[in-house]
Amino acid sequence: MLTIDRMKQALRDAQVGIEEQKDTLTDLDRAIGDGDHGINMSRGFDAVSSILDEDYDSLGAISKKVGMTLMSKVGGAAGPLYGSAFVKMATKFGDATEADFNLLIEALQEGSNSIKARGKSEVGQKTMVDVWDPFLEHVKQGNDYKQQLDELVQKTEDMVATKGRASYFGENSRGTVDPGALSSSILLAAIMKEVD
Ligand code: ADP
Ligand code: MG
Repeated sequence: MLTIDRMKQALRDAQVGIEEQKDTLTDLDRAIGDGDHGINMSRGFDAVSSILDEDYDSLGAISKKVGMTLMSKVGGAAGPLYGSAFVKMATKFGDATEADFNLLIEALQEGSNSIKARGKSEVGQKTMVDVWDPFLEHVKQGNDYKQQLDELVQKTEDMVATKGRASYFGENSRGTVDPGALSSSILLAAIMKEVD
């Protein structure tokens, strides 16, 4: 069961994971973007960790606060996308104080749909969508999520970007892992760990 406390733990773990990969995220974004993704995500998750000491009476309430925080603090293209994902997850969680595996996956699916709608993006365009969407399909089929995440991130290396800043690199975007795919895998792994 994902409780409010376990959601807090997931977000703390995500912050640590982002911090550990901050330079990698920046290097990847320097290769096929403007080099700010590590800094953006680190700033955003620092802000998220500072709102975790507050009390929340539902998973909806904490998710909404996290979404608003990410929207205002991450910046770039990724900020509004991650932000909208959490705000959409919040509407699925509603007043629930805990979520079983199925509710969590439904909420994450709403989040993924929101990223696609806002980014006008779909699978195969070398973005974070290439982690969110196929990952949820795998998880629904009961596959080992950790291995799936690593494989999905790796698969973006060979793709050509057609959305976001990386698309300006055209064919030259091939050969670099998408930074948003990597940050998404860190976040999703941290959340999934709490429903194991
Ligand atoms: P910016 O590109 O504005 O500098 P960031 O560097 O923080 O923003 O985030 C870049 C990441 O955002 C990319 O690696 C990609 O995963 C994701 N991204 C960018 N545009 C889109 C989009 N239209 N749909 C989905 N994800 C996107
Ligand atoms: Mg960038």
